[in-house]
Amino acid sequence: MTPVCPCDTGKSYDECCGRFHNSDQAPKIPLELMRSRYSAFALRLHDYILSTQSNRSEDELKALEQSNAATNWLSLTIIDHGEDFVEFMAAYSDSTGYYAMSERSSFRKKAGHWIYQNGEAVPCNPPSVPARNDRCWCQSGKKFKRCHG
Ligand SMILES: [Zn+2]
Ligand SMILES: [Zn+2]
Repeated sequence: MTPVCPCDTGKSYDECCGRFHNSDQAPKIPLELMRSRYSAFALRLHDYILSTQSNRSEDELKALEQSNAATNWLSLTIIDHGEDFVEFMAAYSDSTGYYAMSERSSFRKKAGHWIYQNGEAVPCNPPSVPARNDRCWCQSGKKFKRCHG
């Protein structure tokens, strides 16, 4: 059984963001790119994140690795999306607790491929933390206490 993609489409990783991470296929719309970047954060594929955004400096890679090192990405919710933007909420945890962030991301096309341009934080209401015996809010299907609890 192939694992479910972290980006919450319910598809297997190979059919969803895996084809962008592990092959030459490129996302055709910003929504696919945004999902694949979220999955790359969740799976710590920092090279992929760097390769799909406008800022590709060494410092940016180091900053990414550092900020993402202690973060567990738990769920992605798409709020709105259009021709060149995606607004989403992502829930995550670190050693200090559970959080969510929301952002309106802008994308542009460069040499025929969509890349992430920048993001603007928007206010969000974090999802409530599941009870210990509820299903985890990531897509594992396990109980919260056996997964990200
Ligand atoms: Zn995916
Ligand atoms: Zn989980």
